[in-house]
Amino acid sequence: MPPRFDLIVSDIDGCLQPESNDAMDLESLARVARWNALAVERRDRPIVTVCSGRPQPFAEAMCKLIGNLHVPCICENGVWLYHPGTNEYAMDPAISIGDREAVREAAAWLESTFGPRGVSQQPGKSASVSLFHRDTSVLRAIEPRIAEECEHRGWPLRVSMTWLYINCDLKHISKATGMRRLMADLGLRQERLAGIGDTMSDLAILENVGWFACPSNAAGPLQTRAHYVAREPEARGVVEILDQLAGSARSITAG
Ligand SMILES: [Mg+2]
Repeated sequence: MPPRFDLIVSDIDGCLQPESNDAMDLESLARVARWNALAVERRDRPIVTVCSGRPQPFAEAMCKLIGNLHVPCICENGVWLYHPGTNEYAMDPAISIGDREAVREAAAWLESTFGPRGVSQQPGKSASVSLFHRDTSVLRAIEPRIAEECEHRGWPLRVSMTWLYINCDLKHISKATGMRRLMADLGLRQERLAGIGDTMSDLAILENVGWFACPSNAAGPLQTRAHYVAREPEARGVVEILDQLAGSARSITAG
C-alpha cells in the first residue's frame, strides 16, 4: 500500500531530544534512523526530517543521527533550509541585508545591556538572537523590556519565550515560512505532510501539515489540536508516533 504521507517534519527539543540537559535517547534515535533507512530502501514510508529553532549545525547533526541525508531540514526557526545530503545552505531570500543589520544591532544592544547580568546569546545563529540564562525567571523579567526596545528602535523582531530561551526572530520568518519553502522546494502538498511538535511555536508545523502528533510532554493546548498524542514522552513518543503511522499491525521501528 502506498504511504499516506510523503514526509514527516519533527521538532527537535522536547521531541527528538530531551528539553532538559539529559543525554539523548540513542536507542529511540536509532529506531528513527532505522525507519529512515527503510524509507529510502523500500520507499514504503515517509522520511523524517527536522524543523527547529536550533542553529544549522545542530539540525545538521540531528539529521545525520537519524539518517536523513535526503531531504532538507528547517533550522533557526525558518531562517535556513539546509540539505544534509548535498550540504546546501539556503537562507530565506526574504531576509534582506537590512534585516541582518537590524539583527546585529539588536544583538549588540542585548549584549551590552544584559550580558553583564549573565544573559548569554546562543552561538551559531545567523539572522536571529536567542538569549539564555540558567535562571529562566531572569529571562521572563527582561522579555517585556526587550520587546519594547525592538519596537522603539524599529527592529523588525518578534520576541517570544520558549521553555529556556528568549527568541528574537525576524517578524516575517518563522517555522511556518520554513515549512512553505520546504514544500515548494520538494513540490509537496500540505495534506501529504505529517508533523510532530511539543510547544505552541509548533503550531506553525501543525498548520502546514495534513496530520499532526505530539509526544506526551507536549503543551496541553497543542495536544488538543493534535490528531494523535503519544503515551510516551520525547524521543520514545516520536517512535510511538512512527509506529502509529505505520499501523499497529506491524511495528516497523522495532528491532
Ligand atoms: Mg520543542
